[in-house]
Amino acid sequence: MKDAITKKEFWRGVIAAVAAFAILLGLEAIERGLPERTDAAAEAMSVSADIEGAYQPGTYTASANGFGGPVEVTLTVGENGGITKADIVGASETPDVGGAAIPDLSAQLLSAQSAEIDGVSGASLTTGAVKEAATAALAEASSLEVVSAPKAEGDNLFIPGTYTGSSKGFGGDVTVTVNVSEKAIDSVEINGDHETENIGSFAVEMLGDRIMSAQSPNIDALTGATVTSGAIIRALQQAFTEAGADLSKFPDAHEPEIDTADKPEETLETDIVIIGAGGAGMTAAIRATQAGKDVILLEKMPYVGGNTTKATGGMNAAETHYQKEQGIQDTIQQFIDDTIKGGHNLNDPDLVKVMAENSAAGIDWLDSIDAPLPKVSFSGGATNARIHSPEDGSGVGAYLVTAFRKKLDELKVNVMYDTKATELIDDHGTIVGVKAEGKTALYTINAKAVILTTGGFGSNEEMIVKYKPELKGTVKTGSPGATGDGIVMAEAVGAALVDIDQIQLHPTVEQNTSMLITEGVRGDGAILVNQSGKRFIDELLTRDVVSAAELAEEGSYAYLIFDQHLRDGLKATEKYVSIGITTQADTVEELAEKLGIDPATLAETVTNWNKYVADKKDPDFGRTTGMEADLSEAPYYAIKIAPGIHHTMGGVKIDTEAEVISTENKPIPGLFAAGEVTGGVHGGNRIGGTAVTDIVVFGTIASESAVEYCDK
Ligand code: ADP
Repeated sequence: MKDAITKKEFWRGVIAAVAAFAILLGLEAIERGLPERTDAAAEAMSVSADIEGAYQPGTYTASANGFGGPVEVTLTVGENGGITKADIVGASETPDVGGAAIPDLSAQLLSAQSAEIDGVSGASLTTGAVKEAATAALAEASSLEVVSAPKAEGDNLFIPGTYTGSSKGFGGDVTVTVNVSEKAIDSVEINGDHETENIGSFAVEMLGDRIMSAQSPNIDALTGATVTSGAIIRALQQAFTEAGADLSKFPDAHEPEIDTADKPEETLETDIVIIGAGGAGMTAAIRATQAGKDVILLEKMPYVGGNTTKATGGMNAAETHYQKEQGIQDTIQQFIDDTIKGGHNLNDPDLVKVMAENSAAGIDWLDSIDAPLPKVSFSGGATNARIHSPEDGSGVGAYLVTAFRKKLDELKVNVMYDTKATELIDDHGTIVGVKAEGKTALYTINAKAVILTTGGFGSNEEMIVKYKPELKGTVKTGSPGATGDGIVMAEAVGAALVDIDQIQLHPTVEQNTSMLITEGVRGDGAILVNQSGKRFIDELLTRDVVSAAELAEEGSYAYLIFDQHLRDGLKATEKYVSIGITTQADTVEELAEKLGIDPATLAETVTNWNKYVADKKDPDFGRTTGMEADLSEAPYYAIKIAPGIHHTMGGVKIDTEAEVISTENKPIPGLFAAGEVTGGVHGGNRIGGTAVTDIVVFGTIASESAVEYCDK
């Protein structure tokens, strides 16, 4: 007989598990180095960086007892599944203690995207009530929908059979199918095709093994992919409940945190140790291994990719065989000139020259490792069509990371995951290795050469505020690993820093999700309009100029407008639609109405724009690129965007051999660097598509220099 359990009873059963998941989300938020939780920061952040949608959209209210009486928490979950609003009412709290803490607690809930917040010292009772009420509200907001289920008998864990559960992940539903016998999980299959490639997809790939070995749903989420992990765990719980399981019977299989002091020490030897497995680190590791060197690649996250995964546009390169085959006129000199002009003449011209000169060879190398970038188009700040991207229009970063990973596997490169480099080993001015901390051990890695490829510091609020205080609290688009560790480690051994205050805002960031909307959308023909429905800038000017123009508009935001034809040609747009950040309508007028814009004005803007495309002339703002197709195929789409922190242009000083330069202007022997951790290549503003050139070209040069240094 089936025992009916009410939704309420069911929730009581899973509330602990949901709370555990909330803790995981909270931990990730801390790892990301989220800003000090001020009201302003919370306002600006709304939903913190790269939180993938965790909850069902809607409004959820719960209350708990505080100091003077009930404290009510109302959480609003937006279309993307993130918490967009946290209202707390605690009328009976002491005004200047608990009452005063309420705005801060509300900001903390938004920032942590979970109920697991630090709280406000001195207001512990109010804090406790807010946490309790928020936990209950989030339990309601979770997507489990089981209302009745049978129960396993006696000591049995399950009623044998095959069961499937599903829950909302980032890109769509994640399903988990389990085969269970009376006392064991015999197999698990996870399906989450829509999860972010090389982020959530890793959780889909890896959690099955964790579930099997733990024989429990009480497992750790994959750091950096907590929403997909959460969806998997919830789907699993749903399947278990269907299988008659009592969720409270499963063991706690969360990995215990081992204190640093308790970890055993291990010493490893290698030729080259590379710190950070983003694009630059993986390029360097592949190249150095191909050159016959023994390599250790350290990565502090449980997966490779870093910010590179998030690169959506392509790779700038000049005089490539693809350009020639497509009849595109371009020169290395023009690439250099565009890069330096875009970088406000702050770039190191020698580095720019080397990058441009080696860019076509970089494209050839990518061909050779089965990662061709044959599609060539325009992007902001480029005179000619120069940005090279994958044939099928997919995001360049995830595409390259997949190819690099495959190559690393093929070459059997030793990638040490979850292992954070903490210090460079300095032997009287020569770098001879790295100290690192793994989950279960501390490592001393002795090496002939070290390559720093730790990426930028765009996710480190403290460093952002240190170097550019006016950006305090700005929405971030970086990966959680972009915390500037390499800059700090290099500085400690005497490296010079250049342009460290040059931090790029990306002009098209959806603010609720921190989702960066690729420049490719504008490159393929989208326009930007303000709330009045009017264009206000040449959309393909450099990122800093377009960002500044948006900030000068009323409300400091704009709408990116495109049509079905553009959507069909650009795969990246599918994600924007699937996560619900687009507004869609069958006519331009209807779209305007949905956006609260005057329909006649937006219709006139689009009609005029289509005429400019036909004439190949934009008399309003002088746009000359991204005008191959007009906006005339319904349905029409809009994404509300504003600037967000994107790339940190400054960093460790290098020369054209990728040697790290000291404050005394001399190379530091044994230390090389490439990618976003370095400064000088992009000057005061990076052109879209040049980060990938940077990682491929300087990743290669760093590896060649390190190999040569090892052989000396
Ligand atoms: P780039 O574009 O320059 O390659 P990415 O951001 O793509 O930079 O990659 C940098 C990588 O370095 C990320 O995967 C990040 O997690 C990793 N990383 C950052 N700091 C450390 C550290 N201290 N130890 C190991 N890996 C690190």
